Amino acid sequence: MEKADIGLIGLGTMGANLALNIAEKGFRIAVYNRTTERTHEFAAEAGPLAANIIPCDSLQALVDAIKPPRPIILMVPAGAPVDEQIAALDPLVARDDIIIDAGNANFRDTRRRMAELAETGPRFIGMGVSGGEEGARHGPSIMVGGPEDSYRRIEPVLEAIAARYEGEACQAWLGPDGAGHFVKTIHNGIEYADMQMIAEIYGILRDGYGLEARDIASIFARWNEGRLNSYLIEITAEVLDAIDPETGKPIVDEILDRAGQKGTGRWSAIEAQSLGVPATAIEAAVAARSLSAMKSEREAAEKRYGIPTSSAGAPSEQALASLEAALFAGKIVAYAQGFAVMAAASREFGWNLPLGTIARIWRAGCIIRSQFLGAIADAFDGAPETENLLMTPTFSQYMEAAHPHLRRVVAQSAEAGLPVPSLSAALAHFDTFRRGRGTANLIQAQRDFFGAHGFERIDREGSHHGAWKKD
Ligand code: NDP
Repeated sequence: MEKADIGLIGLGTMGANLALNIAEKGFRIAVYNRTTERTHEFAAEAGPLAANIIPCDSLQALVDAIKPPRPIILMVPAGAPVDEQIAALDPLVARDDIIIDAGNANFRDTRRRMAELAETGPRFIGMGVSGGEEGARHGPSIMVGGPEDSYRRIEPVLEAIAARYEGEACQAWLGPDGAGHFVKTIHNGIEYADMQMIAEIYGILRDGYGLEARDIASIFARWNEGRLNSYLIEITAEVLDAIDPETGKPIVDEILDRAGQKGTGRWSAIEAQSLGVPATAIEAAVAARSLSAMKSEREAAEKRYGIPTSSAGAPSEQALASLEAALFAGKIVAYAQGFAVMAAASREFGWNLPLGTIARIWRAGCIIRSQFLGAIADAFDGAPETENLLMTPTFSQYMEAAHPHLRRVVAQSAEAGLPVPSLSAALAHFDTFRRGRGTANLIQAQRDFFGAHGFERIDREGSHHGAWKKD
């Protein structure tokens, strides 16, 4: 039997869809799953694509079924399962075979695995795949990190299966070692902020203006026609419009306000903090998910403090335009923060991350896909020395026009007692960032007062101490 071009381990949601995508693009793929019945079930359900699929009942059979040098994709849960699979494969594969971890790994694990395998093991690639089930099946956005020559060997497969934006494949080699998984992590961090800000605007429309889900759906649908056009705004409109067949009510009103998280948002916030880069809009979104989980505490707090009742009435066209612009401004800050974290990591780890390319491969296939990312790619390409989106000519113009709306919406929400943690973090970041003389002179003085840490002066070089009257 003709051997496979590539192998895949883990036929769960992502793995099964990715394998079908690969088979559909004309590559032969050998597949293995821990639970053998799933492997056969998968092959049986593959229809005509089964001709390109070789189901394998053991890892040895999988390795034997692939043409050397063998690329093998792991699509299993991040963490211990990945280490277990690598340990099981290591004795079976050759030095120039390539293990590709395509799950949502922590990039620090990817760096460790790459270092561990460098001496005696096969080659290793850390590959972020975004787009969920649909993306995996019909075209994900793919972020690759690892040795460039290994990437070049799998590039034809990735080029064929990736999402396309105006004909361009949304996949790229982004740098060595953990670069791909780091970029995927920040992608998810930005996704958290994007979703949170949309939810905050939904909260203003629902609780501030008292609108029904279907009215809010039509507002988001309208915004999706303009500069906010994106997958997340599109699905928000669809979700808000959907009716629960059991109750006949909007399904969103029947869903518990408690959102889960798997870790990538938290990792983004942790890495931003480790690198000393403010990513407050993302951090606020992660914290908002944690607060959402504290349902019983929130209910008790509402009993204790109460919540203001809305008296705003339906929003005017002008108010709606302000909300749209506030969301746009908040989004600019969140993306600026995410890209700044990647730029800092790139310096720290010597990756040379291509910011414009990252924005370009996010234009399709992934959850944050949008036309906005096309503008970001153009902004970075047009100002290659600028790492801060807020300082690119295009986005500084956008921000100049939109930030007064963000200010108005955050201020009115604060007055009305409506929580907008991510939008207000974005505004606070912008206001702190654009102020040439801030207030850290006082912080320096306080630190010198209690800890003799010294301070710099505005009028001369060196470290100085104040003549504090401590007694
Ligand atoms: P699923 O839970 O659907 O599937 C997990 C797969 O891994 C199954 O095939 C399972 O096999 C196998 N598996 C689980 N534990 C082990 C183990 N210890 N050893 C060997 N095989 C194991 O997961 P997903 O497909 O959703 O996710 C896979 C990866 O992709 C994760 O890292 C996830 O974070 C990432 N990802 C998921 C996305 C999504 O939208 N779902 C989007 C992007 C990335 P068995 O049948 O035997 O249980």
